[in-house]
Amino acid sequence: MNVQPSKIVCVGRNYAKHAAELGNEVPAEPLIFLKPPSAIIAAGEEIVIPEGVGRVDFEGEIGVVVGKRARKVSEAEAWEYVGAIIPANDVTARDLQRSDGQWSRAKGFDTFCPLGSPVPLSEVDVDAVGVTTRVNGEVRQEGSITDLVFSIPFLVAHISRIMTLEPGDLILTGTPDGVGPLSPGDVVEVEVTGVGKVRNPAVAETRR
Ligand code: MG
Repeated sequence: MNVQPSKIVCVGRNYAKHAAELGNEVPAEPLIFLKPPSAIIAAGEEIVIPEGVGRVDFEGEIGVVVGKRARKVSEAEAWEYVGAIIPANDVTARDLQRSDGQWSRAKGFDTFCPLGSPVPLSEVDVDAVGVTTRVNGEVRQEGSITDLVFSIPFLVAHISRIMTLEPGDLILTGTPDGVGPLSPGDVVEVEVTGVGKVRNPAVAETRR
């Protein structure tokens, strides 16, 4: 499956402990935002830390690849619209996220969306899916699909009532607690249990 999303829909504060670690409440409804497809990089490619933006964090996430067009689907039928699960890193310029209020810049820099290889849903033991993030080999985040405040079917149904989800579109389901900054030279790896990994080095921006 070739992942070329028309949009990347991300969910904020979808793990209670992560919301708390940043001093936020769990929202009453999914808090969604968009990340531009231009931010996508593959495993092994460099995450470029822009000059002058302050802290840049990793966010390991369980990604969902939409399998067929979804518009106003019900939660009960939502899994039928999921094509694959994919490891993802929702790299975030944390200081800009706070100061901007709107998140497009903080979430939208080139290279801020490392993606692994998608695995078809039929090959995934969904109930056993979890996400682990390692930096330089050290575990920094661990989460389970069962920890999601809003489940994947709930999210697909909710988002599809707002915007039509096209085949290949991505939903990043939020990050567990343990987020932290990346420094040039770090290697960050997001593993989705039973699906795979995406590992990327972080580098400082250089003048080009
Ligand atoms: Mg995130």
